[in-house]
Amino acid sequence: MIRIKTLEEMEEYRKTAGTLSKAVLRRAGKMVKPGVTTLEIDQMVEGFIRLHGGTPGFKGYGGFPGSICASVNEQIVHGFPLSNVVLKDGDILSIDTGANKAGWAGDNAWTFYVGKVSDEVKGLCECTRDCLKAGIEQAVPGNHLGDIGHAVQTLAESNGYGVVREYVGHGVGHDMHEDPNVPNYGRRGRGVKLQAGMVIAIEPMITLGTRKNHVLANGWTVVTDDGMPAAHYENTIGITKDGPIILTQDELGPWCNMQGGE
Ligand code: MG
Repeated sequence: MIRIKTLEEMEEYRKTAGTLSKAVLRRAGKMVKPGVTTLEIDQMVEGFIRLHGGTPGFKGYGGFPGSICASVNEQIVHGFPLSNVVLKDGDILSIDTGANKAGWAGDNAWTFYVGKVSDEVKGLCECTRDCLKAGIEQAVPGNHLGDIGHAVQTLAESNGYGVVREYVGHGVGHDMHEDPNVPNYGRRGRGVKLQAGMVIAIEPMITLGTRKNHVLANGWTVVTDDGMPAAHYENTIGITKDGPIILTQDELGPWCNMQGGE
């Protein structure tokens, strides 16, 4: 069942869970440097969220151990933050995190560069971010879920990248995962019709090589079958009659200074 939100509820979401989730993700990104462990970033994130009156939405969710998913290079999603994962120059780190606040569940993700990354990997990341923007543009009343997926898939595949099928975006609200599922592939005009009041997380997961993937022995972490890198960007958005509004944004907005000075 899709839970429709009022404009006031969306605004409340943005001011509480949305703002804190973006603020902590931005802060986490500033820690991303060679020599830092993903556990150190996780610990900062948990402390920052609690300091600002929230609780880490990921910690303990389905048994997940961390406050962030920290996915390095070929890890697509659900990487564990660990003391023995030391970032090194040229890596990419996808951080997926959310703060729960005032009864709302935040969710957003960004792939950060560790030091200097190759042009090839930078191209993957830039395209994945463009895929997220293209998906958001389609989130207007009257369109269908398939229009979002189609936009993401077309942009990624036309650039020669793979689109992960097994993991998808989702509705968001008082719970981190609500209906509907929001796939990153699809056909125009297919799927659930979008309407004002829907709040969804759009989160393309795009691969440099094959889109095929598997789960590691820890039961969580998803990696590409060919060991090539994957990128992951996510924003939670609200659909209004005037179009989409990004709810996971702080005073600097959804994109500014997240990476590369944009
Ligand atoms: Mg999500």
